[in-house]
Amino acid sequence: MAMEPMIGLEVHVQLDTESKMFCSCSTQFGAEPNSNVCPTCLGLPGSLPVPNRKAVEYVIRTGAALGCKVADRCRFARKNYFYPDLPKNFQVSQYDEPLTYDGSIDLTVDGEPVRIRIRRAHLEEDTGKNIHLQTGSTLVEYNRGGIPLMEIVTEPDFTTAEQCREYLTQLRLILRCIGVSTANMEEGALRAEPTVNLNDRQTGEATPKVEIKNLNSIRSVFEAVKYEIARQRKTVAEGREDELFQQTRRWDENNGVTALMRRKETSDDYMYFPEPDLVPLEPDRAWVEGIVNSCPELPAARCERFCEQYEVPEYDARVLTETRALADYFEETCERFEGAAKTVSNWVMGDLMSLLNEAGVSIERSPVSCANLAELLSLIEENVISGKIAKDVLGTMFETGRSAREIVAEEGLEQISDSGALESVIDEVIAENPGPVQDVREGKDKAIGFLVGQVMKKTQGQANPGMVNEMLRERL
Ligand SMILES: [Zn+2]
Repeated sequence: MAMEPMIGLEVHVQLDTESKMFCSCSTQFGAEPNSNVCPTCLGLPGSLPVPNRKAVEYVIRTGAALGCKVADRCRFARKNYFYPDLPKNFQVSQYDEPLTYDGSIDLTVDGEPVRIRIRRAHLEEDTGKNIHLQTGSTLVEYNRGGIPLMEIVTEPDFTTAEQCREYLTQLRLILRCIGVSTANMEEGALRAEPTVNLNDRQTGEATPKVEIKNLNSIRSVFEAVKYEIARQRKTVAEGREDELFQQTRRWDENNGVTALMRRKETSDDYMYFPEPDLVPLEPDRAWVEGIVNSCPELPAARCERFCEQYEVPEYDARVLTETRALADYFEETCERFEGAAKTVSNWVMGDLMSLLNEAGVSIERSPVSCANLAELLSLIEENVISGKIAKDVLGTMFETGRSAREIVAEEGLEQISDSGALESVIDEVIAENPGPVQDVREGKDKAIGFLVGQVMKKTQGQANPGMVNEMLRERL
């Protein structure tokens, strides 16, 4: 029996709104415990929810980016269960009428194209958080309770852990690009739950579905899925299929294994019913159209365009499109610079990025503007300064915010391309290095490099190396 893995991914995304889903409490991360709460998000009697317009907009924006349809009309539903982190004893979610549905995302994994269908992207509210102490008691923190949460569910179209990893990588880029979430996994803003089973496409035979929880990085999703596929394969291969059952497992990061948490609940267990306190959601069509039409170019498409339009290597394009701000910076600099885009890419990814990282400054706040970087690169291109001097100039630009031309003029860093000025230095070098000079005369070409180096040294790197090389050859 040839069984193939069938994996679906459910991703929860905290939306980057100022206030919560159904009240005006702040969503600020790291606030004093239980300070961002009110009667509505604590579910006190008599309080009524009011939907957050921004959250609805963000789900529509995400749906649009994932090629989903946007419902003309949809409803919220109550998902009922009792747990201390849920003060109302129900979570407001969406059930049979999601806000957006039927989309897809195209990935390239190991050079192969893969299309993953998106079943739905809907809106709900986050739960609070139980904090279990070593003493055996539990604290409950409700600041997170009621923060707008988007759930994105795929069809079980993944067949490998590598595909899951690429999907999450792309999804995170998209969410950041369209500005709906920080998508920071460490802060719990993006949480993924894979469902894994094995399936025989010919006979339809399949192992029971296993859902995996407690995953807080893309890497742990990758590892957990890989482990779970292997675990189920081994169980089947050993003829112990009857030991497999539908369940929820947790990922044990330290031991690199999945472990049983509980038998899986079915949707019947939650007794979903339409939320009576909220009217159906009927987003205005013109408003929806406006949101859909303002969807920016997505990272994967932009990466591909960078390769074609600017002829930069795929590696560069991927790095440069990691954030919208960085991609914008690169493009704007290219527009202002007449030389090769690869030069811009090298300087942005190399010297500028390392200055930014060292100073802990984001590209949005770069003290070196696109115009100033373009000017610096033009100075190299026009042989006004050497590449080596340019690195120092960039450092000064970064510190002072001044323009390259200003710094070069003020500090007298122009490359010496005047043969008269170089002549005397070359005379000196020839006089001081009879050995290498003899070597050059005997045809040992390597020695000329040494002599050029000596001239560069004497001129503090300001001589035009091409010119020095030419002049030395003429003289010897
Ligand atoms: Zn509240």
